[in-house]
Amino acid sequence: MGDIILPSQDIASKFCAQRDNKKYISVSIHDVTPKFYNQLDEIISRLYDIGIDKMNLLLVPDWAPDSKLHENDYRNHPKFVEWLKALKAEGCEFAQHGCHHKSPKRKGHYSGPIQYVMGEFVAVGLAEFQNLGYWEAMKRIQRGQKIFSETGLEAKGFVPPWWQLSSQGELAMKYSKFFDYYMATNAWDLFGRFSTVPIVDLKSEEKYMSRELCFEPRDKFADYFTRGLAYLVTRCEQANTIRFGIHPPDVENKEVFDYIIDRIKEVKPGRKVKTYSELLAEK
Ligand SMILES: [Zn+2]
Repeated sequence: MGDIILPSQDIASKFCAQRDNKKYISVSIHDVTPKFYNQLDEIISRLYDIGIDKMNLLLVPDWAPDSKLHENDYRNHPKFVEWLKALKAEGCEFAQHGCHHKSPKRKGHYSGPIQYVMGEFVAVGLAEFQNLGYWEAMKRIQRGQKIFSETGLEAKGFVPPWWQLSSQGELAMKYSKFFDYYMATNAWDLFGRFSTVPIVDLKSEEKYMSRELCFEPRDKFADYFTRGLAYLVTRCEQANTIRFGIHPPDVENKEVFDYIIDRIKEVKPGRKVKTYSELLAEK
């Protein structure tokens, strides 16, 4: 004789099953540029090994922070572009991650002390869209889009470097009409709310609030802080959506990268892997 299932148990199991279905994991790879091909390839193959079979790839069409302009322009790297297309065919999703990633330096660039600290110390001069005016932002978005269209790539979303987007830059991004979603955050969301980075659906204007766990191996304090936060979120919080953000230099620090992989392995069972636009579609 089989087990007798009481109606209340049946309802409870259905409820739990439903809740479990709504648990997601999303992994994004930042700073996708030919300059970091070796690191990116290693990160992605380690992620495939543990069952992360699709990711958000944040494309920088013309990476320039520490090299001559255009050296890393996608148009000069057809093999890299083919590699990206193969990843897309596997289910990866692209977002435009600025144009050069580097913040232009000019007098009076920062509007206040918080902006200054965020731009110079936290983002170390790499928050490209933090203080751009409308036309400068539009020019950079369009330049990136031109590179994408000439190489046969398409970005669904816009994720500015360090998620920093000036109000004029936000307008330009919306009026450009290239994207389905974007991400932008401020110092309060990042530090007061512990790495909360909303994804905004540009059609419905709805915000999808969740954390993105990123890691900072370049600085001891930031390294321990970000790893501690990842431990708490993955072990204790068990949020419905857990997002990880991985940067190419993370893989060069074995201890940190192994830690990231361990955290992902810990929360992956029972969670569906989703890209950003798939997360928005689930709302
Ligand atoms: Zn970046």
